[in-house]
Amino acid sequence: MRVGWPGRRQSSANAGNAYIGPVTLADVLTDIAACRACALELPHEPRPVVMVNTETRLLICGQAPGSRVHQSGLPFTDPSGDRLRSWMGVNADAFYGDPRIGVAAMAFCYPGTDPKGGDYPPPRRCAELWRPRLLAALPKVELTLLVGGYAQKWALKDRAGQSMTETVRAWRDFLPEYLPLPHPSWRNTGWLRRNPWFEAEIVPYLRQRVAALVSS
Ligand code: SF4
Repeated sequence: MRVGWPGRRQSSANAGNAYIGPVTLADVLTDIAACRACALELPHEPRPVVMVNTETRLLICGQAPGSRVHQSGLPFTDPSGDRLRSWMGVNADAFYGDPRIGVAAMAFCYPGTDPKGGDYPPPRRCAELWRPRLLAALPKVELTLLVGGYAQKWALKDRAGQSMTETVRAWRDFLPEYLPLPHPSWRNTGWLRRNPWFEAEIVPYLRQRVAALVSS
């Protein structure tokens, strides 16, 4: 697949926004796999995790890999993934095996754990370096799931609410291109209890869209 970047391709894996040449999705993925832009700040070797295909129609944009995903090299191989798949109404075989489903988080490498036990936020650098090029190479995407506040703010900009809850409550405003969701982490179990409208209204809509996208 070719997309229309004018000019010549630069060879540096970390060219990022300076990249000006024609590009295929394979080119972008090769460059992302080689990226070491955060190597001096991460407490481990960068291991970019991204799962997309030229056929991707449903793109899941989360926060950043956690420690389990860092180990597995596959997105959402953790309890958050189990909950997300349950919301979507798909099993792991479909999630990982259907090329129409893709995952590209706001950062591709595990950012490490903070002293309180939570993960550090995704480094903004990753989206700035890679996201425009990657999305330009995914022309078939019809729906992007904005999972959590970082993805919502990046994609929706000033249309995002003051909080994740406010943005998710206004979910109909962003259709059909975007659907904002809370992060499926166990840390949001209390949020899900306090906001039953999410599972009553949004999850059925999500399942319907996913079924339509992967069945057509
Ligand atoms: S998080 Fe993104 S920018 Fe940083 S090393 Fe990984 S792929 Fe590169």
